[in-house]
Amino acid sequence: MQIKPKKSLGQNFLIDKNIIEKITSFIDLENKNLLEIGPGTGNLTASILKKKPKKITVIEKDRDLCSLLSEKFGQQIKIINDDVLKFNPNEYKNNKFIVFGNLPYNISTEILVNWIINLKLEPWFSDLFLMFQKEVADRIIANENTSKFGRLTIISKWRLDIKKLFDVSPSCFYPEPKINSSVLHFTLKKNYIKFKKNRNIEIVTKTFFNQRRKMIKNPMKQLFCDYIELAKDLDIDLNLRPQNISLDNYYKIIQKFEELRN
Ligand code: SAH
Repeated sequence: MQIKPKKSLGQNFLIDKNIIEKITSFIDLENKNLLEIGPGTGNLTASILKKKPKKITVIEKDRDLCSLLSEKFGQQIKIINDDVLKFNPNEYKNNKFIVFGNLPYNISTEILVNWIINLKLEPWFSDLFLMFQKEVADRIIANENTSKFGRLTIISKWRLDIKKLFDVSPSCFYPEPKINSSVLHFTLKKNYIKFKKNRNIEIVTKTFFNQRRKMIKNPMKQLFCDYIELAKDLDIDLNLRPQNISLDNYYKIIQKFEELRN
């Protein structure tokens, strides 16, 4: 079957054998349940299958690609022809997945944020090995006091430990994207601050980062009547900008926000 990449589905297929093997080499496969997001033509899938995982499930939105994958791999993989954003992983909590994939870049942050916000007490995955566009990966792993530090950092680092594995250049894909990519490895944090409603992390960070270049006095005032006192308690300077507030303080601010709305 002749496959013409669809731009609307963010289809940039990995074709570089070295990079495919490099990604595969990082994943500890033995006896693991694997879940691939957006397998495309199955280049990465084939490399993973060679290492004989216990089970591999793939989610692919493109029906043509699903037929191709089914022809290519037969019973070796379980194919779910669906939108990953509609897929409810919490139904699968009894078999913890190792998730991997070269994500469709137009929805990569939405996928990650949804997964984190919807994590239950018993998470449905142990590891994520995901490819993002480099600019997005840099925002996910950003440090405090840098211009990349923002909502995506605060949400990601809340539940996940994150390690950048390596960058991937445009020439490794067909068609070549205009941007560089990075592969990140995420594992679950053992300890994290619990919230009553995970969505509050989005509400609070949105309030702060809507005005990224302004002093945090404004968002603090918007969220809290006694913001001056709260700033004193947390030892934060109201003249700082959102990127200068530590992760820990953000999580404390969210907890405070929840306490006051009880
Ligand atoms: N992993 C493959 C292809 C990556 S391109 C490779 O490395 O070669 C991104 C893939 O995600 C494409 O196959 C595209 O069809 C699929 N995709 C795009 N949007 C999707 C969605 N909402 N849900 C599931 N898959 C999607």
